[in-house]
Amino acid sequence: MISDDAEHMEDVSGNRSWLIRDGMDRERMLDMDRRLQPVRRLSFLVLAGSLILLGPWLGWWTMVPLVATAGLFAAADKHTERARRPEYFMFGAWVGTQVVLAIAVALSGGPKVATISWFGIAVVTLASRFSDRGIAIGVAITYVLMLAVAFGVNAHAVIENPTRVVAPAALIASVTMFSLALMRSDVEHRSRAVVDTLTGMLNRAALAGRAEELAQQSAITSQPVGLIVADIDHFKETNDTYGHAIGDAVLKDVAYIIRKQLRAFDLAYRLGGEEFLVLLPGADSAQVQVVAEGLRTAVAERPLGGGIAVTISCGVAASKPPERFDYEAVFERADRALYAAKRGGRNRVCVAGDAAQGEQPAAGDGAGPVLGLAA
Ligand code: GH3
Ligand code: MG
Ligand code: MG
Repeated sequence: MISDDAEHMEDVSGNRSWLIRDGMDRERMLDMDRRLQPVRRLSFLVLAGSLILLGPWLGWWTMVPLVATAGLFAAADKHTERARRPEYFMFGAWVGTQVVLAIAVALSGGPKVATISWFGIAVVTLASRFSDRGIAIGVAITYVLMLAVAFGVNAHAVIENPTRVVAPAALIASVTMFSLALMRSDVEHRSRAVVDTLTGMLNRAALAGRAEELAQQSAITSQPVGLIVADIDHFKETNDTYGHAIGDAVLKDVAYIIRKQLRAFDLAYRLGGEEFLVLLPGADSAQVQVVAEGLRTAVAERPLGGGIAVTISCGVAASKPPERFDYEAVFERADRALYAAKRGGRNRVCVAGDAAQGEQPAAGDGAGPVLGLAA
């Protein structure tokens, strides 16, 4: 069946969580987090510098909570790239920061110290990472902590001079609104640049940056990176028979099916025309083959309704650690495997492998034999 637009707009991979709307949002969050990492380090330095200056008034112990929050983020960073739901690690580190700050402010004078306004710092980063719900929860937690610290430590000081709470509370609200507006504008601009408007998939421009990041990561982690090139079979015929508009609908449908099959951190791109590319961080050749076979089967078994049957052919390859992931080289091998799949009769998966591997049956299916290609 040719799915309608509304369906395509929805999350396609069961990737929704409390903090993130879909896989694309998660990818944006990870990207933003990578951009924020150096800024976060600088910010820690600025805060450490000011705490050193304030040592005689606040006490030197205030460096301890600062180091603790730096540790929290370091721990979260370690887990985010590989976790299925990295947003929970990030949100955990974020809440941890506010809690540690609350303890530090409470111990150093509660509403009487100006560091109570520091609750506003972490709020800036909420909008760049989480859904509206995540932002609302984060701001609510911040207010609860700030009010608890202010009234719990010295309610008298707050009543005597409400500025101590009202000013930072207003700061938090304003910072949230501005960062939200800036973030929405950024998302709109960036998604226009990196998302294919027909299928909602990432485009070539997005691929270039991601390939480089994966290359760097693979050099550090010694993990393989798998790659699938998929191409719709006889698509020209589909266009010629049913018209371009139906062809477009089929393209959207196939893109939707591919995205639905993938894990949260796998990435699917439309290379152009009716050709798609999938990047599978951490997957070796055998694992990529299984995923590709899943994609092929899902497209071939697509519920038809009033729609048109299509099949795809896939070429797969993966980098071999400890070799660094070389996108160009792996792509070329996968592309050659795709060519072999087309030559072999289409609707099948071919693995770019060692000559020694020889021919193998496709995983769990007789319809698509898997050929071994000389690398
Ligand atoms: P093969 O099995 O060898 O891949 O055959 P094919 O017909 O799919 O391959 P070919 O590359 O010859 O044709 C690709 C066709 O895809 C050409 C063009 O009509 C169609 N196409 C490319 N982009 C779009 C698009 O955005 N919308 C539609 N409807 N068709 C497109
Ligand atoms: Mg084709
Ligand atoms: Mg093609």
